[in-house]
Amino acid sequence: MSASSAVRHSPIATVNPYNNQLVREFPPMSREAVDNAARHAHHAFQSWRRVGVEERARLVGRAARLLRERGEELAQLVTLEMGKLIGHSRAEMDLSARILQYCADEGPGLLADETLELDGGSAAVVNDPLGVIVGAQPWNFPVYQVVRFAGPNLVLGNTILLKHASNTPQSALAMERLFADAGTPQGVYTNLLITGSEVDRVVALDVVRGASLTGSERGGTSVGAAAGRSMKKSVLELGGSDPFVVLDGDNLEHTVDAAMAGRMHNMGQSCVSAKRMIVLSGAFDRFVTALAQRMRVLRPGDPADEATTLAPLSSERAAEKLSDQVLDALDKGAIAVVGGGRVDRPGAFMQPTVLVGVTPTMRAYREELFGPVAVVHQVDSDDEAVALANDSPYGLGGAVFGSDLARARSVARRIDSGMVWINHPTSSEPQLPFGGIKLSGYGRELSSIGFKEFANRKLVVTMPADTPITDALG
Ligand code: NAP
Repeated sequence: MSASSAVRHSPIATVNPYNNQLVREFPPMSREAVDNAARHAHHAFQSWRRVGVEERARLVGRAARLLRERGEELAQLVTLEMGKLIGHSRAEMDLSARILQYCADEGPGLLADETLELDGGSAAVVNDPLGVIVGAQPWNFPVYQVVRFAGPNLVLGNTILLKHASNTPQSALAMERLFADAGTPQGVYTNLLITGSEVDRVVALDVVRGASLTGSERGGTSVGAAAGRSMKKSVLELGGSDPFVVLDGDNLEHTVDAAMAGRMHNMGQSCVSAKRMIVLSGAFDRFVTALAQRMRVLRPGDPADEATTLAPLSSERAAEKLSDQVLDALDKGAIAVVGGGRVDRPGAFMQPTVLVGVTPTMRAYREELFGPVAVVHQVDSDDEAVALANDSPYGLGGAVFGSDLARARSVARRIDSGMVWINHPTSSEPQLPFGGIKLSGYGRELSSIGFKEFANRKLVVTMPADTPITDALG
């Protein structure tokens, strides 16, 4: 039995994955408390929607400043709760502050009325808020995921019920405090300490007008169905198994550096991680050798120690699942060029692994591998690379590397996913839309597109008072 499964504690708890020790636990909120929070959020919406967009943006700008001030404290907390390398936690705080700043600076402009041509009168699409929006967020980027959802919605004028992952409750509470300290009125941003199984009930509450979930297919289908049953808008940002296509061996060292960054950021626990590397034959052997060399030198240790290069996964359960997926592939004939098992020490550690010879009968071919495991496929042509890239139930991101940009763009355009980057691992910037297709979900976050997902894009038509009335169409 693993260390964590031997411990009996509340489902909502901080367990340090570096040593699997319970740090702090929280009792789940009662249904009555949740219903009260929803009512307060609805009540707060009535006044929040009437606060001008400039003032809402100003408060979100204050949240950005506070996030910068509290960056180190939050980074340490995130590393404690889900085990990411402290340097990666700091990078998350930096991006998160930039996202909030973007919402504050650009939000009012992005939400301005859009005028339309109309004979004899004028027409505009105005972006009204919808009301209370539920956001269920995952543990892998405990701050970034929250701001990506909350920043635009707060500027738009929605109020938020935030249900964070059960293993990052302290990060969740720190974010609630951050928005309160920034000056958002009570009820505008409320954290719900509840488990995933309670979310559908909250989505169905009368006062809730929309739901957004970032997480697994299991959570996504559940929340999507609950929202559909009660006729509410939903956005789903789910998993991925992104292709990382290497067209040639030019700049190979640079490409392998990018593959390492793309696969190993957050210890591979990113939705847009480069999980399937698809390499043209001319570069395959050199690519695999160089990738394995870089993986081999990673050293496990305390993720809060800046010298550590291999962090634990987020939980013992996550490490067990990844290890089972790798063992399944090895049992069925795949080869681990490096790694292949758990690290022999306490904590949720998995060896950095490079797998070749992965075939469609193996779980590793189709399932998302959420950790430091790279699958490398060899192909003989661009067509074969595209076919393999698209042979996935997911369609989130992707990357294409090659010195011939026209060729790389042509391959990128044929990949079925929500985002493709050329000569850079898939990444996230405040002004770029983020989201996927197929089992990776629907809708977008960030950018002008993400800003309006939970807006009522209301048409207002103005005609002169003496306008002759024609037959109405409906
Ligand atoms: P998860 O189990 O679906 O959890 C995500 C959130 O949903 C948590 O708050 C969770 O609460 C809640 N939840 C779980 N089951 C639920 C249900 N049946 N109904 C409603 N809510 C439920 O996902 P995860 O394993 O923590 O997160 C990792 C996954 O997220 C990966 O697949 C990753 O690729 C994906 N991801 C996607 C994006 C993107 O933008 N597309 C970004 C980051 C991560 P509990 O913690 O209480 O279970």
